[in-house]
Amino acid sequence: MSLRPCPSCENNVSTQAEFCPKCGHPFGSNKEKNNGITFWGIVGAVVVAILIISVF
Ligand SMILES: [Zn+2]
Repeated sequence: MSLRPCPSCENNVSTQAEFCPKCGHPFGSNKEKNNGITFWGIVGAVVVAILIISVF
């Protein structure tokens, strides 16, 4: 488990925490970024699969 500085109050907060325990700054946007990466990862995999099928 690692720590990261809060962008609002610079308090060291666990990366597991959903919000800063000191000032209450939410870190929920990180989950949205992860979901976005997963979504585009799936889209990329589908595009690659279509390209492979079309080649053969
Ligand atoms: Zn904070």
